Amino acid sequence: MKKVEDYVRSIPDFPKEGIVFRDVTTVLQDPDGFQLAIDEIDNLLKDVDYDVVVGPESRGFIFGVPIAYKNHKGFVPARKKGKLPCETVSMEYALEYGTAVVELHKDSIKPGQKVVIVDDLIATGGTIEAIIKLIEELGGEVVKVVFLMELEGLKGRDKLKGYNVDAVIKYE
Ligand code: 5GP
Repeated sequence: MKKVEDYVRSIPDFPKEGIVFRDVTTVLQDPDGFQLAIDEIDNLLKDVDYDVVVGPESRGFIFGVPIAYKNHKGFVPARKKGKLPCETVSMEYALEYGTAVVELHKDSIKPGQKVVIVDDLIATGGTIEAIIKLIEELGGEVVKVVFLMELEGLKGRDKLKGYNVDAVIKYE
């Protein structure tokens, strides 16, 4: 039986020298790999009571949408600056070089809603930290954060202390 990590392709020196990029296109293009990835993420949420799934642009859409659909929950996209058409809340966060901005529609999360965040990968944790702040600004409660992959060496979890964080695949 193949495991989900067997479907991930690792690309050395992408996007720059010294970085091993974990490519999920090989998971998605295989029907068994795709199904396994969604089922494993879903399994990490089986005891969690939640109302809505938030997925960061763009690979968080790919993994978050099937989870929301399967469990009859709403899906909320966290988007890059300027993409959402209605009133937004936004948060700037640090990238390796420079900064980026993530946004949510103001009416996407209702006060008291229990929120799960799903993304493909946690590296430094900066993206998710910013999204958590936005969800909380809107009155939501982040009950769990689930990744397909975690790069443990980058210590992204340190930024998410106090939150329930889990990953299907853990790379050192
Ligand atoms: P962080 O904010 O945790 O440093 O970066 C996480 C974001 O960068 C995720 O949304 C993820 O899609 C992207 N990312 C960084 N490195 C990789 C990688 O090796 N593979 C994939 N698939 N995404 C990556």
